[in-house]
Amino acid sequence: MDNILEVKNLGVSFHTYAGEVKAVRGVSFHLERGETLALVGESGCGKTVTAKSLMRLNPEPPGEIKEGSSIKYEGREVLEMSKKELKELRGAEISMIFQDPMTSLNPTMKIGNQIAESLITHMKLNKEDALKKATEMLKTVEIPEAEKRIKDYPHEFSGGMRQRVMIAIALACNPKILIADEPTTALDVTIQAQVLDLLKTLQKEMNTSIILVTHDLGVVANFADRINVMYAGQIVEQGTTREIFYKGEHPYTWALLSSVPRLHGESKKELYSLPGTPPDLLLPLEGCPFASRCNYCMQICREKMPPKTELSETHSLACWLKHPSAPKVEKPDILRR
Ligand code: SF4
Repeated sequence: MDNILEVKNLGVSFHTYAGEVKAVRGVSFHLERGETLALVGESGCGKTVTAKSLMRLNPEPPGEIKEGSSIKYEGREVLEMSKKELKELRGAEISMIFQDPMTSLNPTMKIGNQIAESLITHMKLNKEDALKKATEMLKTVEIPEAEKRIKDYPHEFSGGMRQRVMIAIALACNPKILIADEPTTALDVTIQAQVLDLLKTLQKEMNTSIILVTHDLGVVANFADRINVMYAGQIVEQGTTREIFYKGEHPYTWALLSSVPRLHGESKKELYSLPGTPPDLLLPLEGCPFASRCNYCMQICREKMPPKTELSETHSLACWLKHPSAPKVEKPDILRR
């Protein structure tokens, strides 16, 4: 196994007027070279905070990475890097694309200059060479008439094209890890598929590892190799995409899977909508964070945090239902095939 990234016991808090919000608690995972790992969960589950922590992009303060956390990129501890080392890491080694390209692109700057900027900073190219490379990158992300379009401003591109430009900026310096934070949420379904296909093709060509952050399990089905399911700042289940889709065992994973539209067989059944809200991360967590919304909740779930159970080398979850003395429960109807 060739791990490019290893995250251990990551804890991230934000200090607010109301108190300490523990946004990420004890998160551990690894990323292999060339693979795609998805972080999946509802808004506020800590997936974006986790992803941003990998590049130290959460503002510190009010953010704070808790003691005992470790993020190792190619064996180097990111949490001990100097400001200069972090600057070199961002964009050149690890880069990120965001959900809404309109807020990430500078509306007053030509597209070509925006791509060239990171090449000048990280690859030390001169302006002329950087613009040439910017044109190549626009061709790589399949934007027609690239030579002409590098002189255009963001508002002259459609939503899908803007997201392609963001991908061009993120991949311009050939980073080893690309973090894609809800990269297709703002796009309609056909464009979504095109952007994901493009990312997959470029990943193979450049051997980039991808961390895909999304609330939508449907998006990751054909895209990710492995999935971390997050809830209330913790990973509640992790496994290969196959394990999560066909052998997922955590009630929260079941709820997410039940809300994915199906094209075959069970398509006529109503999609499931999970009632309730996640716990308040300002308050101390006692027991399982999913207890207040879980249909299978038992007494112990409210009192003690469930331990991690390994189901295979790649598949694990934290749920009291895996305890030998727990009652046997069936998957919800909608997930039975
Ligand atoms: Fe539900 Fe209990 Fe499992 Fe939590 S530990 S997911 S409350 S059954």
